[in-house]
Amino acid sequence: MRCYCCSSKPFEECCEPFIKGEALPHSAEQLMRSRFSAYATAHYHYILDTYTKEKKQALCVEDLARSAQGAKWFALKVHPTLAASSVDSTVKCLVDDSVNKPVDSSINSSVYANTNVEVATDTEQSTKPNVNANNAVVEFTAFYFENKSMYQLHETSNFIVEDGKWRYHDGELHEDCGKIKYGRNLPCVCGSNKKFKQCCALKNR
Ligand SMILES: [Zn+2]
Ligand SMILES: [Zn+2]
Repeated sequence: MRCYCCSSKPFEECCEPFIKGEALPHSAEQLMRSRFSAYATAHYHYILDTYTKEKKQALCVEDLARSAQGAKWFALKVHPTLAASSVDSTVKCLVDDSVNKPVDSSINSSVYANTNVEVATDTEQSTKPNVNANNAVVEFTAFYFENKSMYQLHETSNFIVEDGKWRYHDGELHEDCGKIKYGRNLPCVCGSNKKFKQCCALKNR
C-alpha cells in the first residue's frame, strides 16, 4: 500500500518504521510526513511524542485524539519550496562558507551551483536564515474529510532538533484553510494521476 503521506513508497518503507519507533526521521519533512501518517492511522502517542518538550507539556494523548475525532486524513501535499528541510549539515557548511566570504554574487552562484550537484534540490532555500542543521521550516497542505465535506489544512511548520531528534514545534496556518470544493474530474490531490472521483473521493464516506 502506498504510504498515507502520499510519497511514492509503501507505508512499511516510509512512515511506519518511524511511527513504530524502529527508525528516526532524518529530516523535518520526514517527521512531518510521519506525523501526518500517524494522524491518518490514529497513532496519537506518536503525535504527542514528536512535539518539542516545550509544547508537549500542555498536551495529552486524549486531547489529541479528541481534536482529531471525526476527521479522516487522506492526502498530503508537501510544497516544493521546502527542499531546504532535507538539506543536510554538509551542504549547510558549504553554503555558509559562501555567504561569509567577501565575494561577488557571480562567484556565490557558482558555489551554489556546486552544492546543487550534491543535493539536486533548490539550494536557494538553504540560504534562508531560519533554516539550519537544527531547525527547519516545512510548508504543506493536508486534506481530510469530515461530515462528508472536504477540508484542507495549509500550514507552515517549524521543526527543531532536540536531543538529536526532529521535533514539531509550532506552525502558522494559511488563510486558505477550511472547507473546499474540489472538482471530481480534476487530478486527485494525492498525486496518484487518477481523477479525484476515481481515487481519494472514494474514501469520503
Ligand atoms: Zn510516508
Ligand atoms: Zn487520491
